[in-house]
Order: sequence, then C-alpha cells, then structure tokens
Amino acid sequence: MSVAESVLAEYGQFVDGAWVAPLEGRTSERTSPADGSVVTRFAAGTSADVDAAVAAARRAFDETPWPTMPARKRADVLNAAAVLLRERADAIGRRITLELGKPIGLARTEVLLTADLFEYYAALARDLRGDAVSQHTPDALGLVLREPVGVVGMITPWNFPLLLLAWKVGPAIAAGCTIVAKPASLTPGGALELANVLADAGAPAGVYNVVTGGGGQVGDALARHAGVDKIAFTGSTEVGREVLAAAAGNLKKVSLELGGKSPNVVFDDADLKQAVRGAYWGIFLNSGQACQAGSRLLVQREVHDELVERLVEMARSSRMGDPLDEKTMIGPVVDESQLATVLHYVEAGTSEGAKLLAGGNADGLFVEPTVFDGVGPEMTVGREEVFGPVLSVCTFDDAAEAVRLANDTMFGLAAAVWTRNIDTALNTAKAIRAGTVWINAYHDAGLAFVLPFGGYKASGFGRELGREGLDEYFEKKSVHIKLGQGS
Ligand code: NAP
Repeated sequence: MSVAESVLAEYGQFVDGAWVAPLEGRTSERTSPADGSVVTRFAAGTSADVDAAVAAARRAFDETPWPTMPARKRADVLNAAAVLLRERADAIGRRITLELGKPIGLARTEVLLTADLFEYYAALARDLRGDAVSQHTPDALGLVLREPVGVVGMITPWNFPLLLLAWKVGPAIAAGCTIVAKPASLTPGGALELANVLADAGAPAGVYNVVTGGGGQVGDALARHAGVDKIAFTGSTEVGREVLAAAAGNLKKVSLELGGKSPNVVFDDADLKQAVRGAYWGIFLNSGQACQAGSRLLVQREVHDELVERLVEMARSSRMGDPLDEKTMIGPVVDESQLATVLHYVEAGTSEGAKLLAGGNADGLFVEPTVFDGVGPEMTVGREEVFGPVLSVCTFDDAAEAVRLANDTMFGLAAAVWTRNIDTALNTAKAIRAGTVWINAYHDAGLAFVLPFGGYKASGFGRELGREGLDEYFEKKSVHIKLGQGS
C-alpha cells in the first residue's frame, strides 16, 4: 500500500479571516490510515482559541451588515464557493482520502456534493420569506419574521468531514449566521480547506472560523461558550449527550445528529439484483463508517438464501486496497481504535452464536466486508452501532414481524424497504420509526438535499437539509400590528 504522492499539509487556526497560530503554540499530526505516513499537521487548540474565534464570529454577527444584508449577497458567496469547490475537488478530495482512507472517488464526490448543496441553499437564500396573518381580525395584522439565530458552533465527525459540515454551513450562511467550526481531530483538512474556499468566495472576516483541537477541550469549550447561540453537532450518541449538557449553561439551541442501527428490509417480491446492490452499498460504503449505514439486513424467508448468497459473493469480491486508486471499493477503517472496536463486534457476533458468512479478518487497518447471518436484536452485534463494515442479517416471515424487528432498536435514523408492492412499501415506511426511509434505494434516491434528514429516538433531534434544515438557523419573531390608529 503506498501513498507515496502524499503531500504533508500544515494549517493554523482560521480566525477572523486570517490563518493564525494556536495561542498556546501546540500542534497535532494526523497519519494516513493507509500507510501510516504523516499527512496533516494542525493546531492543537485550547479554550483560548475558542474564545478568540467566538469573539470574531460575534463581531461579524453583531457589528457588521452580514446578518441584515440582502440575502442574495450571501447567496453569491455560496455560489462562488460552489465554483471553487468544483475547481478544487481533486485536491480537497485527496486531502480527505489521505486523512480518512476513504476511496478517492467517494472523497471527490463528497466535495462535488458540497458544491451542489451550497447552490441549493443559495437558491433558498434568494427566496427567504416569513409569514403573515391578515384575516384573524380586521383591525390587526400579524407578521412572522425569520431572523438568523446568531453565532453557531459546529462540531462534526470524521466520516464525511466536509459534507456533514457543509450541511450546517450552507443553511447557516443562507440565513445570515456566523460560524465557529470544530472538525474531528482525525480529519481536520476538509473544514480547514473550506476556510480558504469561503474566504476566496468573498465571505467577510469572522463569518467562518475554524478551531482545531481535542473534543474534550475545544469541542467542550465551544459547546459551553456563552457567546454561542446554537450548537449543531454530528457525532456519537455518547458525546451528543455531553454536548447537550454543556450547552445548557446559556440555554443555547442544540441540534444533534447521532448514531444509528438502521434496518434495510427486503420483501420477497423485491427486485433482488437492486436489493443486493442496496444491501452491499448500504453497509459497506465508506467501510461501514456512515451514521445511516444499513447495518441490519432484514430479509423475508422466501428470498433469504438467494439474496444472502449473492451478497456474500459480492462482499468476497470487493476490491479492497489503496484508497488513492480509483478502482478501490473499500479502504481502511479510520484508525487503530476503530479497528479494535470493529474486531470486538466481530468477536461478539461469533461468540454469541451468529453465523459468519463472509469476512471477519483484518490486514492492518483494512477490514474485510463482513456478513453475519442469524443475528437477533438480543445479540450485541445486532443491537449496537459498529460503525464499521459489519452487516447483521436476520429473517422475517411477514410485514408485521419486519416492522417489529426494524423498530426493535434504541436508534431511529434511517431505514430502507425493498418491494414492488406499493402498499407494502408505504405501510412499512410509515410504521418504521426513523427520520428517513428509502423505498427501493439506499443512501440516495436522487433527492439529495431536498428532503430533511435527522433522527427519531436516540439518533438525535433537529433536522438538517431541505427547507427544514434552513429553519434550524432562524429565530421566529412575531410582530403584532394594531390597525386603524394611524389617522
Ligand atoms: P464523536 O466521537 O462523537 O466525535 C464527534 C465530534 O465531537 C468530533 O469533532 C469530536 O472531536 C467532538 N467531541 C468529542 N468529545 C467531545 C466533547 N466532550 N465535547 C464536545 N465535542 C466533543 O464521533 P465520531 O467518532 O467522530 O463519529 C462517529 C459517530 O458519529 C457515530 O456514532 C456516527 O453514527 C455518528 N454520525 C452521525 C451522523 C448523523 O448525521 N446522524 C453522521 C455521521 C456520523 P475529536 O475528534 O477531537 O475527538
């Protein structure tokens, strides 16, 4: 495995429109999970850096025209950023691959999707509107104004380091908020490159700031900060709880996008070819390191054997290797700790009686796509989020049992249903308690960004994407106007 062409990138903190050294002068390094070479050197910040970044974001929000300027000017920034992201897609995608080990095609797609998303929110920014109540009584008029929420702290995970930040940055800029981003320490490059993109696109100083450093220091300081009006967090359920508690001090608004254990339900009348592809990429995309991964495959008994046989064949023939190779399907997992977690779940599956049909081994940080059969909700591997390339398969006999199994989880982030029967599809989609349900698709049915995304139950609260995602960045102000007193 070689990432010989890798280029070491070095970054400071991005505060008030300029690159600055961390106030306490310490740095961290990120090594490539593919070959262990150092690929990124970045600031190991502290709460003092957070103070400086929040102060800059506050000034930009409180003392500059940014939140009140014509929204089309903010749309111009997003559109210009989209152009630059497309121009820089190779370089930024490469940085993501070097840090994360994600196959280069997927990393480049992440950058291109970010460009599309910025254009989507630029379009919405050109059509911002509130509401009016004009017929409740003849002598009064009510207005509902949408006003930007203020300074937003964004704390993001490593698995889609640019796109999951962009889900927040796009609507925040459209709404007129200012930003302090705290990316995951394993993959800071995407958020840091975005600073250059937004600055070059014309974002004024202080609108987008980035502070890197440990979650327990920088992330916690941001979540606690009295100068922050909202925290948008994506990450684990465990850290989400800590962020929520830290944010309670000044009662800031919080949205949490957390973990999942998403069911992928295949009925016996499904298009099996498509369902196999959906099951494969549902779990193995990004080595299973996706919050919405279809980690539980529920298959109707009549098609179980055929579907599982085809899936296992596909899993065994996965092209695993150098993530910078365009043909690679599966790269390494992100680090040693993630590897240990994944292997722990493989061991738990085996010792609790699940049947290992494919994979289960690792070579360095490269984990084979792994398929367990006969996994019930009582088993550890069928219940807990692995966040790795491990699929749990179980069988059901009818729709009622499918729904019961699908809902037998603390999570409720996503699900999919495969069937040719419209009633089965819609009844099942309605009965599953999850924020997103795909029908005859997984991850995407071609409606990217337009529909809201977020969790039921322990998968969090608040919504990203769509108009609902934009709404998270607005306060609503009611104006009561008494009429008939003007003369
Ligand atoms: P994580 O450990 O929860 O970390 C997420 C972010 O929180 C990182 O930036 C981390 O910084 C920071 N952090 C850690 N401790 C903190 C604290 N005490 N206070 C404030 N911030 C803190 O999650 P991860 O391992 O990066 O990502 C995997 C998890 O994210 C999985 O559970 C996955 O399901 C979830 N996820 C959810 C979605 C969704 O949309 N629902 C999307 C992707 C991932 P450091 O990196 O410096 O530790």
